[in-house]
Amino acid sequence: MMEKKDLRSYTYDALVVLFKDLGEKPFRAGQVFDWLHKKKVTDIGAMSNLSQSLRDRLEEEHVIHVTEPVKVLVSSDATRKYVHRLHDGNIIETVLLKYDFGNTVCISSQVGCRMGCAFCASTIDGLVRGLSAGEMVSQVYSVESDINERVSHVVVMGSGEPLDNFEAFTDFVDIITDKRGNDLGGRNITASTCGIVPKIKELADRKYALTLALSLHAVTDEKRKQIMPVANRYPLDEVLDACRYYFDTTGRRITLEYSLISGFNDTEADADELSKIARRLEAHVNLIPVNPIKERSFAPTARKDAVALKNKLEKNHINVTIRREMGRDINGACGQLRRDFLKEGSLGEANA
Ligand code: SAH
Repeated sequence: MMEKKDLRSYTYDALVVLFKDLGEKPFRAGQVFDWLHKKKVTDIGAMSNLSQSLRDRLEEEHVIHVTEPVKVLVSSDATRKYVHRLHDGNIIETVLLKYDFGNTVCISSQVGCRMGCAFCASTIDGLVRGLSAGEMVSQVYSVESDINERVSHVVVMGSGEPLDNFEAFTDFVDIITDKRGNDLGGRNITASTCGIVPKIKELADRKYALTLALSLHAVTDEKRKQIMPVANRYPLDEVLDACRYYFDTTGRRITLEYSLISGFNDTEADADELSKIARRLEAHVNLIPVNPIKERSFAPTARKDAVALKNKLEKNHINVTIRREMGRDINGACGQLRRDFLKEGSLGEANA
């Protein structure tokens, strides 16, 4: 049997094509897009301005897949981690971070991940599959309906590598920012990549307003290779050139993410080299003391040492912040998201 397609994976333009193929008028696309992304219904049957026969025809080949929150963990800092079940039984995690400026949702882009970064829990069991655009959209809407508030910012920093799932990821951006629907400001999206060079360039050429974050984590190829297998494929120099191209093409400043691992990448010399890289890209630097995961022995740089590194960068006139880490107590922080909470037991841990 042919698998039904998720209506929420269609961009507006793709819906127009769909209705044309069905022999329907183009304005039907606008009506359906409005139901999906403004009224946010999850049932084709609820689209009451479509005739019953059209709804029936749509349902023959289409569904709306919801990511079902099978568990919501609430951190002492009000961060909420959603354990979401997909229609095929796979599990992904989504995190809500409440800030003064609004609600930020951190979405996953893949079930698992094949990038293999040594410090990250999401990659431990490898990649299962990429998420569809609709499954990315659904994570945002699921959180909105849980808290009954609008989500103002989306970061694509959960499980997975968004640029390893490029078409679905860019469709997601097109859908969630579309003014005829959810209308999230493009500037309110940040996507993080471990550095897939050709895709960084391709993304630049799409000229979205989104912020690109590069997971740098080490300042030389030699060191980067020790913790990030992707560094074997794309040398740092090419990655940085691609990022420079992104900035020059879009006018959007890159963020360099730098996880501080005690005794590995946190010397003054590292800070100086990091300053050079940041200057080359005119980038902002985000220092993140590495979050512990139980399979690995990486330890975070002590707070006072992290502050000293920040000061060093500032002396070098670099725009730098230390990330305020949220949701660690529920394994909801960077690098702590996993795909199989049942098998792995992150619930037990979080409650312990
Ligand atoms: N695949 C993308 C996005 C997912 S990870 C990427 O690599 O950028 C989001 C961020 O969390 C990345 O910067 C990642 O390197 C970082 N991260 C992963 N594990 C971490 C950990 N244990 N502690 C702190 N940051 C971590």
